[in-house]
Amino acid sequence: MERMYNFSPGPAALPTAVLEQARGELLDWQNTDLSVMEVSHRGKLFIELAAQSETTFRELLDIPEHYKVLFLQGGATLQFAAVPLNLAGPDDTADYVNTGNWSKKAAGEAERFLNVNVAADGVDRNYVTIPDPATWQVTDEAKYLHLAVNETVVGVEFHQVPEVSDAPLAADMSSTLLSRPVDINRFGLIYAGAQKNIGPAGITVVIVREDLLDRARLETPSVTNYRVMADADSMFNTPPTFAWYVAGLVFQWIKQEGGLAAMGERNQEKARKLYAGIDASGFYSNPVDHRCRSWMNVPFTLVDPKLDTEFLQKSAEAGLANLKGHRLVGGMRASIYNAMPEAGVDALLAFMADFEARHG
Ligand SMILES: *Cc1c(COP(=O)(O)O)cnc(C)c1O
Repeated sequence: MERMYNFSPGPAALPTAVLEQARGELLDWQNTDLSVMEVSHRGKLFIELAAQSETTFRELLDIPEHYKVLFLQGGATLQFAAVPLNLAGPDDTADYVNTGNWSKKAAGEAERFLNVNVAADGVDRNYVTIPDPATWQVTDEAKYLHLAVNETVVGVEFHQVPEVSDAPLAADMSSTLLSRPVDINRFGLIYAGAQKNIGPAGITVVIVREDLLDRARLETPSVTNYRVMADADSMFNTPPTFAWYVAGLVFQWIKQEGGLAAMGERNQEKARKLYAGIDASGFYSNPVDHRCRSWMNVPFTLVDPKLDTEFLQKSAEAGLANLKGHRLVGGMRASIYNAMPEAGVDALLAFMADFEARHG
């Protein structure tokens, strides 16, 4: 049977080839007669898996030597707290750019740990655009500048890394990391929950420049302390071994598919097609400023919201799953991460045209 095209925002679709490999090895991993889930993270085979996955990940993103890669737990949401705890003291200030609900949540959590200066806020324009970096009110002494590179709910994305502050950039890349090449050198710290482009929920990747490793407050819990976790190769405690294993398979899959340059070209083309289809119709619309439209998450509304229920039902019957928009925005949202093939976007566009022809 054909699988559904899964437009879920997260946990999101995984490449079918990865799922098939995981299924094939589920009962007998590496000739152990055991599942990868059932072996010690301190054993030779798992340590090799961890090292290999980091090597491939570094290769994909071309991560310079002076950055550490950590595989943690707690999702991006724990990093909302870990970033201030690791990078600043309670009386320090950090700049936050609010471009949607995720960056707002990050700032809200950080407020419990330091002084948050909201350097710019997209709420005035209902988050349909990113405030021009030239207008951002940054703080001279800020310990870092935080932004969410892709806002998964509202569908705005930075297509250029802003250059506005001397403070290190700390970026939530949960829904964009591995979707295209990134110039890591522009960032002090990058974090991402896995369940969009990286792997299953349960593992969180942190890329942190070495000079930022030793600033953590004493009271920072060990499992969120970058120095502690770096020194322990992310195994201060038991890591989420199965999620790590699947993420490693995803890294290999990306490499086989041509790496991040190829991913980026594909993702750009998928997004271009979908926005073009929406813009060409009088029936569907997307309000986001063309310069910062997300390649990953494409929200759109129908001309009459009363048709939403039928759209969702018929699209699911047509093999297109999980198109319901976020409750904050309403309407629909197509999340088209790496694992969504171009054929899935073509199928969605064909369905949308047909639905419009019958209801427009
Ligand atoms: C999904 C998402 C999060 C939340 O991730 P959790 O793993 O649930 O903590 C945070 N930021 C962005 C941009 C996201 O897309």
